[in-house]
Amino acid sequence: MAKNNHSDPVRVAFIGSECYPFVKTGGLGDVMYALPRALLRQNCQVRVLMPCYACIPEKYKKQMVHRGSFMMDLTQDGREFFVGIMEAEMDGVIYDFIENREFYDWGNPYTGLWEDIPKYCFFSKAALAALNYLEWEPDVIHCHDWQAGLVPVYLRTLFAPTPVGRAKSILTIHNLRFQGMCSISHMKYWTGLPDYLFNYDVFLTGDNEANMFKAGLAYADRVTTVSATYAQEIQTDFYGERLNAHLWYHRAKLSGIVNGIDVDLWNSRTDKLLTADYSEKDVLEKKPVNKEALQERLGLKVDRSKYMLGLISRLTDQKGLDLINAIFTRMMDDDTQVVILGTGDPRYEAAFRHYESVYPGQVCAYIRYDESLAHQIYAGADALLVPSLFEPCGLTQLIAMRYGTVPVVRETGGLKDTVAKYDPDTGDGNGFTFDDYSADLLLDTVKLSRKVYLQDRDAWDRIVVRDMGKDVSWEHSAREYLDLYKALAE
Ligand code: ADP
Repeated sequence: MAKNNHSDPVRVAFIGSECYPFVKTGGLGDVMYALPRALLRQNCQVRVLMPCYACIPEKYKKQMVHRGSFMMDLTQDGREFFVGIMEAEMDGVIYDFIENREFYDWGNPYTGLWEDIPKYCFFSKAALAALNYLEWEPDVIHCHDWQAGLVPVYLRTLFAPTPVGRAKSILTIHNLRFQGMCSISHMKYWTGLPDYLFNYDVFLTGDNEANMFKAGLAYADRVTTVSATYAQEIQTDFYGERLNAHLWYHRAKLSGIVNGIDVDLWNSRTDKLLTADYSEKDVLEKKPVNKEALQERLGLKVDRSKYMLGLISRLTDQKGLDLINAIFTRMMDDDTQVVILGTGDPRYEAAFRHYESVYPGQVCAYIRYDESLAHQIYAGADALLVPSLFEPCGLTQLIAMRYGTVPVVRETGGLKDTVAKYDPDTGDGNGFTFDDYSADLLLDTVKLSRKVYLQDRDAWDRIVVRDMGKDVSWEHSAREYLDLYKALAE
C-alpha cells in the first residue's frame, strides 16, 4: 500500500560504502555526497547509511551522536553482532554510521575480498535493521555498488515482514568490475541466507562461486547505472564483466542516469585552493596564473605558453593507462608538460615516476591522493586525459569542463555521453575524443588537441568558455532519480 500522499516528500535511504567528506576512494564517494544534497533541494527526504570506519577523520567523529545500539544475528550459525548507530547532520542530510569495532576498526574501507565479504554482509543487514530501529520507513532504498548488493535480497527475504520491508529498492552500478565474489560456503555462512537463493539466477556464477552483486541485481526492483551508454555496454561481452547475460535478462528494469558534480564544491569562482579564482568572463587571463603557480609548486618549468596535460586518476588499467604508457615518449615534445596525480597499481606508479626522471621540468608524477592538488590541476592544466578502457560515468571530465580544462577522452560510457567531439569545421564540441581502444588513435587525438591549442588559440578558447558554461550539475539527473523514486513509491 502506498504510504504517502502525492504531496508528501519521498523518503529515500541511501546505502553505500563511502561518502565524501567522511571517506572517499573514488567517484562513488562524490555521488553519495552530492546526489542526496541535490535531492534535498527537490523536496526529497534523504538519509545516508554507511559504515563507521576507523579512518573517518576525528573532526567528523566529534560531530556524531549516539542514536542507539542493539545486537543482530548474522551468520548461518546465528552468531550475534553488536550494531551501533552514530548520527550526524550536515546541511539537512542525515548520516547514520553503522558501528562495529570488529569490522570497521582496521583502517581503509576495502582491505581484500576475504574480509570485505563479511564486512559488507554485516553492513547490508545492519543498515536495514537500523532503519527499523530508528522507525524511519523509507519509500525507496537506494543501494550503491556490490557492497550494498545484499540489501535488496535481505529486504525481500528476512526483512519482508518488518516495517522496512515495504520499501522498494534501487541498485545503482557505479562500476561493474567489482562484484563481491567468494566461495559458496563463505557466502552462505556470512549472509545466513536460505539455501534456495544459491542458484544460478541469484547468487551462483558459472565458476561455482557466490556473487553478491549478481544477487542484488536479481532482487532489486530497479537497476540503474551512471550513464545511458554504460547501461547498454554492460549488456555486451566486452563490458559485461561476465554478468552481461544476467543484465540482459533483467534489461527491462535497467536504465542509465548520468552523474553530475556538486557545483558548489567544484566552483572556480569561489575555490579557496586556487591562486586566482575565475569565471567564464576572465578564465582566459586567470587560468595561466593558476598554471604558473602549479608549475612552480611541482617544480616544472614556469612558462604559461606550454601545453599542460593533466591526469587525475586511480592508477588502474580501467583508466586507459596502457595507452598512455604506449605513446608517452611519442607524445612528448618541447611544448608539452604532463602532470599526473594518482595512486594505484605499482607498475603504473613506477612507469610515471620513470617518465618524471626522463623529462625533468616537463613531467611531474605526484603519486599520492591529494584533494587540494586535484583542484589546482583542474584549474591550471589546459587539458585532462581520460582515455579509459571503460568508464561507467567518470567525474574528472565533468570537473575539468567546469574549470575550463578541455577533456581528451575515449568515447566510452559516460565519457561518450558528456563530452561532445570537437569538430574542426564548425568549432563545436567540448573536447577531443576517439573511439577504438587504440594507442595510435590516442596519440593522434593528443596531437590534434595540442595543435589547436598552439596554432588556433581562438578556437581553443571558445571550447574553454563553452565547457565552463556547460551544465554539469546534479539538478537534471536528481530530477530523473526523483521521478524514478516516485514511480516506485506509487
Ligand atoms: P573512479 O570512481 O573510477 O575512481 P571518477 O572519475 O568517477 O573515477 O571519480 C574520481 C574522483 O576521485 C574525482 O573526484 C577525482 O578528482 C578524484 N581523484 C582520483 N584520484 C585522485 C587523487 N590521487 N587525488 C585526489 N583526487 C583524486
